[in-house]
Amino acid sequence: MQKTVPPGSRPETLLVHAGTLRSEFNETSEALFLTQGHVYETAEECERRFSGEEPGFLYARFSNPTVAMFEARMAALEGAGAARATASGMAAVTAALLGQLKAGDHVVASRALFGSCLYVIEDLLPRFGVPSTLVDGTDLDQWRAAVRPETRTFFLESPANPTLEVIDIAAVADIAHAAGATLVVDNVFATPLWQKPLALGADCVVYSTTKHVDGQGRCLGGIVLASADFIAAHIHTFLRQTGPAMSPFNAWVMLKALETLPIRIERQTQSATAIAEALAGHRNVARVVYPGRADHPQAEVIRRQMTGPSTLLALEVAGGKAEAFRFMNALRIARISNNLGDAKSLVTHPATSTHQRLKPEERARMGISEGLVRLSIGLEHADDLTADFLTALDAI
Ligand SMILES: *Cc1c(COP(=O)(O)O)cnc(C)c1O
Repeated sequence: MQKTVPPGSRPETLLVHAGTLRSEFNETSEALFLTQGHVYETAEECERRFSGEEPGFLYARFSNPTVAMFEARMAALEGAGAARATASGMAAVTAALLGQLKAGDHVVASRALFGSCLYVIEDLLPRFGVPSTLVDGTDLDQWRAAVRPETRTFFLESPANPTLEVIDIAAVADIAHAAGATLVVDNVFATPLWQKPLALGADCVVYSTTKHVDGQGRCLGGIVLASADFIAAHIHTFLRQTGPAMSPFNAWVMLKALETLPIRIERQTQSATAIAEALAGHRNVARVVYPGRADHPQAEVIRRQMTGPSTLLALEVAGGKAEAFRFMNALRIARISNNLGDAKSLVTHPATSTHQRLKPEERARMGISEGLVRLSIGLEHADDLTADFLTALDAI
């Protein structure tokens, strides 16, 4: 008999215990089941497994004990009925959309999106007969005006990458449902700790678990979470038959990383809050956008829908690209990278990296200026980081 955690256990408890499947050896730490498949005692058992009459694992493209533990633990944290892990965050985003859509459907999405999400919605879906409309996600009238009779899905990211603009998820969910559409939320920037899109009315949540969930720069991964009905209707068969599965090894790394997720996110958020305050008044800073600050443009929405701010902040260096580059090059602790959510503090210049593909006017419309630098705050001491950022700002 496997023990289960009591109902109502808090995230810290769930993330250490939920979903654990112990083998016949009763190991303490979750086992890594590095196997493609499983053997059956009899042909009859194999037949029953394939018919679904008897539960059990079959083949790692769609089920593996280590991946199942990771999925169950993430579902417990998110309060989701079911979850499916994927090879990367983009595989999760693509499955959440393609799994629901068919030619003739229409998608509405916020414009401030991670570059690859924008590619799927703006370039890929239309090639298969699914046109899309991009809106300013913070303007609810634009969501309403974009709806067509054939609108099937809304997609948004909040806080958005890299501008940290925040969208009213409950209000957008209401507009989607009134139109007979579903809402998919990319919750990477909020993390599963600080925002629960399903509780706010979203139908499906996706993560790149490459980011805060691993949080130590090792493995790619993603996950789709929703009600059991939604996963059964739209996601399960799509992933099973098309194959972007998470490897058992990556699932094991992420499963163990979940044990420390709350202490990492809390510390990184605390440091980000302190750093946002320390940098805000500097003469070489035009603007700091941080969901924990009273001057955030959507501070009122943040109070209603988030229980904590973010480990990320957007810093607009006064001047432009040259000044932003001088700032980044002068840093001695924070490193230049396009990644985020890591134990190592990382800085990104979106205009020349993650969002380089966009035309300058598209970047301007998304609020990505030439001076904008995205800071992902890690686990180094907040005072060391603050000193590093201030020294680099002085050096501009
Ligand atoms: C990184 C990221 C993705 C894509 O995840 P990968 O694991 O790199 O495929 C999607 N959405 C957001 C917001 C991200 O930050």
